[in-house]
Amino acid sequence: MRSCPPPRPRPVRLRRGWWLGLVGVALLAYPAPCTARAGTERAAFDASFLRKLDALMSALRAKGWDPIIVEETGGWRNACFQRSLSSATTQVAYGFHNVTTRSGQPRSMAADLIDRVQRYKGPRAAAFFVDLGAEANRLGLGWGGDFGGVPGKGWDRNHVQALPVGHAAPKWAA
Ligand SMILES: [Zn+2]
Repeated sequence: MRSCPPPRPRPVRLRRGWWLGLVGVALLAYPAPCTARAGTERAAFDASFLRKLDALMSALRAKGWDPIIVEETGGWRNACFQRSLSSATTQVAYGFHNVTTRSGQPRSMAADLIDRVQRYKGPRAAAFFVDLGAEANRLGLGWGGDFGGVPGKGWDRNHVQALPVGHAAPKWAA
């Protein structure tokens, strides 16, 4: 009679539910699209910030620029949409674009502005951003060109916000 070796334990714990892990990875890699993600209409902005934004755009027009708010993403963004942007166009998970009322109504305290003619690139765009920063600071707004510690060399030159750079965004609009 031949003696059998003792059965080797099967690595069941590794095998069982492996597909659940795959589903989890897929959900992390492809999160559900955000709903009600953004808004650039006037109601999407905080009222006191909107007054300064109007003054800013008037000052820029008086200097010969044609400022516009960036379509789709230049005003309010919900937190889900902000996270989806985080790696590409912004470096914060929550900021002045994401402010809401306590009941969840959009009240952005930031806007992204470009000149309609050259938008992001070219000598006219570069000169526009210099004026944008100067006029924003004159109105007491923060300018994204001052992000990163070297004034004027920051990574977000089209961005203005309700408070000077260095202030954290409030969770709720007043
Ligand atoms: Zn911005």
